[in-house]
This record gives sequence, C-alpha cells and structure tokens, in this order.
Amino acid sequence: MSARLAGRAAYVTGGGQGIGQGIALALAAEGAAVLVGDIDLAAAEACAADIRGKGGRAEAMRVDVTKAADTEALVARTEAAFGGIDIAVHCAGIVSVCEVADLAETEWDRVMNVNAKGVFLGCKAAVPALRRRGFGRIINIASVSGKDGYQGLAHYSASKYAVIGFTNSLAKEVAQQNITANAICPGIVRTAMWDILADEYKASGETREQSWQRQVLAFVPQGRPQTPAEIGDLAVYLTLAPSVTGQAINIDGGLTSH
Ligand code: NAD
Repeated sequence: MSARLAGRAAYVTGGGQGIGQGIALALAAEGAAVLVGDIDLAAAEACAADIRGKGGRAEAMRVDVTKAADTEALVARTEAAFGGIDIAVHCAGIVSVCEVADLAETEWDRVMNVNAKGVFLGCKAAVPALRRRGFGRIINIASVSGKDGYQGLAHYSASKYAVIGFTNSLAKEVAQQNITANAICPGIVRTAMWDILADEYKASGETREQSWQRQVLAFVPQGRPQTPAEIGDLAVYLTLAPSVTGQAINIDGGLTSH
C-alpha cells in the first residue's frame, strides 16, 4: 500500500456515503487520518469504521454544513484528534428537480444553503487552521452542473456555479500561503443522489434502472458512469499537486469540455 499522504490529516463533509465516502476511503488508503463528517452520524461512523478496519485512522462526527457552529466544531475536532488539518474536503450536497416557474423560494434556499453556503462556511472555518499548519489543500465538490445548465436543475446548477466562482476566488486569496483550492466537477456517479434524479427523469413506463441507463448513454460520451473511487483518486491527486490551484476539474467521461 502506498502512503503518499502519511502524516496528513483530512476531514470530508458528506463523507458518510457516495462520493464523499469514496474520497474519504481514497485519502485514508494513502495514509491520511480522516475525520468523516456527515449530517447522518450512523453513515459517518460506518465509513470511519470501514477505514479503521482496513488499518487506517478515522473518526466520525455529525455535522450540518449549513451551521457555522458545526463547521467550526468539525475543524476543532479534526485538529484535536489529529494535531492539525492539511486537507479540507467539502462534499456534502443535495439535489432536487423542479422548473423555475414552479420552484418554491424555500427550496431555492434549502439547496443553496447546503451546496453553496455549506462550502463557504467550511472554507471560512478551515482557512485559519490551514494557515496555522502552513500547508493546505481545499477541495470543493461542484458538478458538471456548475459548467452548464440542465432542465429542472436551475437552483442546483446555480449552487454549483457558486462553488466554482467561490473556489477560484479563494484560491487567489491563499495562493501565497502554501494552500491550494480546487473544485472537482463529477459527471454522473451512481449514488443516492442519482436514485432521486433517475426517478425524476423517468420516461413513462420506465423503471429507475432503465431511466438511469438512458441518462448515462444520453449524456456521457464514454457510455459509462464515473465512480466514487475515481473521484477519490482525483482528490488524492489534488492533494499532491502544489501548482494546481483555482481550477474546476471535470471528471465526467467527456460530458463537458470547458
Ligand atoms: P449522496 O446523497 O450519496 O451523499 C451526500 C451526502 O451528504 C450524504 O451522506 C448526506 O447525508 C450528506 N449531507 C446532506 N446534507 C448535509 C448537510 N447539511 N450537512 C452535512 N452532510 C450533509 O450524494 P453524492 O452523489 O455522493 O453527492 C456528493 C456531492 O457530489 C454533492 O455535492 C453533489 O452535488 C456532488 N455531485 C454528485 C454527482 C453524482 O452524479 N452523484 C455529480 C456531480 C456532483
């Protein structure tokens, strides 16, 4: 087992399942200690237990990324558990499908709060800790929906465009402090989020599985989805790439080209 992140400490929000879990496992496999944060404590604990079962170092904590007190507590707990923070991954996110004319103001707020404000609050809490460490890798999970719009996803897309602009601006603020900040833009990954989307985009008479397969073939030039493990590999790469900063990197099988 390689250990290119031995001695590094990370936290991952939304680390209880899906892409966040893939990132937590990938960082841990390279030797990083990982604090798994999620609003679903049982899921976070299961992920941390999985890492420990493989010989890694991990703890779990309940965190609601829309609450500043929670993101500050996550940073404090990671520093207390592992002696500092090197890698801050903000992956918690939610989706819903609704066209603009029917979109409730409360639903706009709900999605923006988790996906955009949650990233802001995480970074605001993490930056002072990374400055103390004299090293930092900030990884914010955006989406191909942060590069192009999709029908029924205006609010989700707006939240992901926000993550990309925010991350690019933050990268410039911390560029001379040995801290990088990048966004990852996954394409289509089969997680609980895509259970929701496959159901929402079902054609009449289609099963969720048939809808899922149709979306993958319609959108992804490679004709196959991406995996949480692949997103985890890209996160590991970004932790090892001192000159890559301010980027929003697509990992989408050719779906987006800008
Ligand atoms: P998922 O639903 O499987 O996982 C999301 C995780 O975030 C869950 O564990 C959930 O409990 C947690 N979470 C939700 N609200 C939270 C909150 N307020 N505080 C803390 N944790 C919270 O979804 P996923 O597909 O793994 O998505 C992860 C990220 O990747 C999201 O930001 C999503 O927008 C993004 N993304 C996903 C895809 C995809 O195809 N699945 C594509 C592009 C981008």
